[in-house]
Parts: sequence; structure tokens; C-alpha cells
Amino acid sequence: MRIKKGDVVKIITGKNRGKTGKVVGVHKEGTVSVEGMNLYKKHLRPKKEGEKGQIVELSRPVKISNIMLVCSGCKKQTRVGHKEEKGKKVRICKKCKAIIRHVP
Ligand SMILES: [Zn+2]
Repeated sequence: MRIKKGDVVKIITGKNRGKTGKVVGVHKEGTVSVEGMNLYKKHLRPKKEGEKGQIVELSRPVKISNIMLVCSGCKKQTRVGHKEEKGKKVRICKKCKAIIRHVP
């Protein structure tokens, strides 16, 4: 997966187009959850009698094809490249060649 938890991404399509946010979850079906993006309210029913129902705000996952990574170095949206560093595969920005840092 080219996007990792903690990456900053930009939404390139849809109603959130142009917004950036931090990836808070990566899902195996090719979607990611972006902090503060695609929020919807979900009503939770009370579990027990006498309890109140709750409304929680959840973030709908966004398809990976609808986002671009924002480079932690040059702050531009970029494609992800790869290189080996000290025997480890790291992701690099194709624009400035900086290693993509992410804070999980
Ligand atoms: Zn860069």
C-alpha cells in the first residue's frame, strides 16, 4: 500500500476536493479514512433500557484513487516513488526526492 497511516493526503475528487487531512486508517479494500473528511452522523441506539442513544460523527473511507499524497518535505501533492536506504525500502517524493515521513 502506498499510503500509510499518518500520511497527509489531498482529496482530488468529490465534494471534499482540494482539502487535505491526515490518514487515520488504511483499509484493505483500497480505501483510507482521512481525519475530518466525509463526516456523517450516526445515531447509536441505546444498548440498555434507560440509556440514551448517542450521535457519533464518523468518517467515511475515501478511495485511494481519489487522493494524492502530500509530501512531508516540499508540501506539494506528489506521486510516491521508492528507493532502498540501508537495505530498507522507503517511499520518496517524486518531485523533491525527499523521503516521505509519516507520524502514525
Ligand atoms: Zn516533495
